[in-house]
Amino acid sequence: MIDESSLDMLIFTAINYNITNTRTKISKTHGDTKTTQTMNNTNTNLNHKPNNDNYSPEDIYFMEYVLKLAQNAYDNGEVPIGAIVVAEGEIVGVGQNRKETRQDTVAHAEILAIQDASKKLGSWRLNNSTLYTNIEPCIMCCGAIIHARINRVVFCTNEPKFGGIISQTNLFDIPTLNHKVNYQYGLMQNESQTLIRRFFREIRTKLNS
Ligand SMILES: [Zn+2]
Repeated sequence: MIDESSLDMLIFTAINYNITNTRTKISKTHGDTKTTQTMNNTNTNLNHKPNNDNYSPEDIYFMEYVLKLAQNAYDNGEVPIGAIVVAEGEIVGVGQNRKETRQDTVAHAEILAIQDASKKLGSWRLNNSTLYTNIEPCIMCCGAIIHARINRVVFCTNEPKFGGIISQTNLFDIPTLNHKVNYQYGLMQNESQTLIRRFFREIRTKLNS
């Protein structure tokens, strides 16, 4: 079960959509040229808009699968997050959030899906694959996605507290990284938000009873 302090943090995360962080300056020395990139970390004022166009029937099918995994995580008392890795049109890795169940910091859905895919394919390199998840991957998972050489990430909705793609930082847009991850979000956003809100509403009800 989730302890009370963890619940408080989860609720804080869910309702804290209005945090405005100070601008972060990242300075990188690249060869002889010093480049300064300024990232706007205002959670609600990012230069990214949901992209609801150009989703294929396969994208919809796979995201529906992810939402079933997220529901399964929900049923197990976890924050409802699911993830899959798809390669050549097939699901090769499956994961759902198991952080509380395992009491494991890194047992995020995306990490478990990547591990599952690597095991199935016999390689840590997951080039030309797509990772689908209902919530914007956190900073840790973004790092794993880059390391795994995943080509594309599709997610439903942003994650203001820890999101590493459009919320807290823009890891997939760092120009000096040697691997580019494409990303899209907004697909089935309402379904994902409904699930997340229902989960936290239930927690609040339990806490107040
Ligand atoms: Zn994560």
